[in-house]
Order: sequence, then structure tokens, then C-alpha cells
Amino acid sequence: MSYNKKTVRDIDFSKGPRVLLRCDFNVPIENGAVTDDTRITASLPTIKYILEHGGSAVLCSHLGRPKGKVSPEFSLAPVAKILSKLLGFDVPLATDVVGLSAKALAGALQPGKAILIENLRFHAQEEANDPEFSKWLAELADVYVNDAFGAAHRAHASTAGVASYLPAYCGLLIEKELAAIGGALTEPRRPFTAILGGSKVSDKLGVIENLVKIADNLLIGGGMAYTFIQAKGGKIGKSLLDADKLDYVTELLKNDSAGKIHLPADSVITSELKAGAVTEIAASGAIPDDMLGADIGPETSEAYADIITNSGTVIWNGPMGVFELDEFAAGTKIIAGAMAASSAFTIVGGGDSLAAVNKYGLADKMNHNATGGGATLEFLEGKVLPGIDCLLDR
Ligand code: ADP
Ligand code: MG
Repeated sequence: MSYNKKTVRDIDFSKGPRVLLRCDFNVPIENGAVTDDTRITASLPTIKYILEHGGSAVLCSHLGRPKGKVSPEFSLAPVAKILSKLLGFDVPLATDVVGLSAKALAGALQPGKAILIENLRFHAQEEANDPEFSKWLAELADVYVNDAFGAAHRAHASTAGVASYLPAYCGLLIEKELAAIGGALTEPRRPFTAILGGSKVSDKLGVIENLVKIADNLLIGGGMAYTFIQAKGGKIGKSLLDADKLDYVTELLKNDSAGKIHLPADSVITSELKAGAVTEIAASGAIPDDMLGADIGPETSEAYADIITNSGTVIWNGPMGVFELDEFAAGTKIIAGAMAASSAFTIVGGGDSLAAVNKYGLADKMNHNATGGGATLEFLEGKVLPGIDCLLDR
């Protein structure tokens, strides 16, 4: 998959095109009101870019899982309200997706203005990537822009299918994801270090497999480290173990003749995962039977921080320990701090990793915070993302 895609900046705005803009407005809603508008504000730069250049915008998104049925509780009405406030003019909501209301509102759109159509998933054809439905969507506009990175790993009508019927570009959010992650995967400033943690090897298998090929260093932490340590013959007590991934990990280590894979030499261990737990430091391969590794130890933190400091690119996915409890947060905090202070190009991805970075107030010290969730993981796995693959190449 090429990461070099045409963006909204490449659109010819001279004739005031109507743009079908796929956004990610999948926001939490309680009692008919949006409780966190982060995703809406994140989409503003692309919307404003289109409007300020003389285009008009037909905005669309999914919200929740209405499963192909019109369900008022999944209406985008609360989103239209917020958009109107943020944009400073009324953003009308079509009462349907590709029906008379959407067509009438889209047909009457003036340059510089925007409308929102209803929840795409009110139609089962959306997730089925139905070509007829894609065609109807395409009829609402002259140009298609995808800026819903979080849905880019799905081949749905609005994320991929519609690109067969309109010239297709990415918005500024996807442009940024492509530049940051695509750049790191294809031409990283070296040394390129990937830090992988979190709970299970099986969650991150694809990421490990792809990054071990590309990166110069793979720093393993979190619960997944103990499967590696056991594979090397270490004693891990009652630490997390992905027993059915032992063979895989053994093979991975055997093939690592370059010594890219780093494992935690020491761990913070405890007999139970709870606030106020008594902790000790132990060699990661010598954990007593009734104890478990809950964080990387101080020696490991220092060694990993050193590698991060001397890297050109760092991608981090997955906390180094059970950072939700202060007793086991030190490793995660030190890694986050080393990344923040490093001159490397730094990328953080994954819900819990981002939560950690936010908790330590370091998010704005990273070059890129990848909020794409499943799409980010598949990107790091080197998979083809249908929502990006379908866009025009440069
Ligand atoms: P992300 O959301 O950033 O992709 P994951 O969801 O893969 O990260 O992993 C996060 C979870 O891993 C956290 O809830 C954390 O408590 C857990 N975790 C990290 N280290 C350990 C460990 N040593 N033992 C058990 N759980 C761990
Ligand atoms: Mg998670």
C-alpha cells in the first residue's frame, strides 16, 4: 500500500466543489448530548480548509452500532448542534442518509457552507460496502475526502466503496497519520526503536512481526515480556503467560541473530496486583512461584531510556507495567519521559499508552499521538488499510 496519497490540498477548488467528507463523529452521547467532543474538534481543520477554499461540505459519519436500522438514539443530531456552534453557522442535519432530505440539502449547498447527513450505519449497505449505496453517496458530491482514520481499516461504503465513483483524497488528519506512521515505517530516521508492551503477546503479534523486520531495536515490556522470558527458560512465577504463543516467541528469538529484541532484565514483582501492594525487584527470569512481574525494573527502565535517547525514531505501543496502580507505574512513566525528552521522532499509539502519556502531561511533547485504535494497530502491522488504499496516489 502506498502511503503517498493526494490530500485535500491537492483538490482544485476553483469551481467551488461539493465535498463528501467522511469524518469520525463516533462520539460518546448521554441523554442526547455529546459528552466528549474531541473527535469533532479534531475534524475542524479539514472542514475549515474545504470551506475557506470555496468548497462546500456534505459531512458524514457513523455513530455507534445501530446495525442497519434507523434508531433515534444513534442520531447525529447532537453532533450537528456542536458543529453549528464550532463553525459559527447553522449546520443542518439531513433526516436521512441518501434520501430526499440529504439530496435536497446537498443540492442547495452554497460555497463555504456544510450540512451533515444522518448516521451512515442506519443502512446495512454501509458496512456491507454495497456498490449501489456507494453510488448514492457519491451523487451527493463532486469530490470525496476521507478523514476518518479510526475507520480506515474497514472497507465500508463511506470509507472505501465511494472512492470508486468520485476522485478521492485524504483529509488533514489522515495526512498527518500517513506522514508520521507511514514515514516511520518506510523511511525512519535511524536507529528506529519500537517499544511494545501491554498485556498479551497475542494482541500484538502482527505488530511484532512487522516491526521486527523494520526496526533496529524492539524493546519488550509489560505483561507480554514474560512469555518471552519463559521461552528463554526463565522462571516467571504467576506472571502473564500466553502459553500458546511460546513456540512462536521461541522461533522469533531464535531468528533474532541481530539481537534487536531486548527483554527486561529486572522486574517489579508482587504477590498481588492491588493498590498498596508490597513490591520487590527481581531478575525477570527468577520470579518466585507465588509472585508476578507487574512492571519493568529500574535497571531495565534505565537501559530502555538510554536506547530511546539515542534513537532517531521511536514508536511506542503498550504500557511497560500495570501503570493504573502507582506501585507499577514507574517503568511506563520513565519510558514516556525519555520519549518526551528525546530528539527522536516520537509516536505513541494505543488507548492505554495514550492514557498514560496524558496522565503524565506529556502528550504535547510527542511528535505524534496516534488515536486510530484498531486502525493504528493494523497500520503498524503493515496491513493494507482499505480507507487509505482507495485514495488517489500522488
Ligand atoms: P494499549 O491500549 O496502549 O494498546 P494494551 O491494551 O495492549 O495497551 O495493554 C494495556 C494493559 O496492559 C494495561 O491495562 C496494563 O495494566 C496491562 N499490563 C501491562 N503490564 C502488565 C503486566 N506486567 N501484567 C499484567 N498486565 C499488564
Ligand atoms: Mg488497550
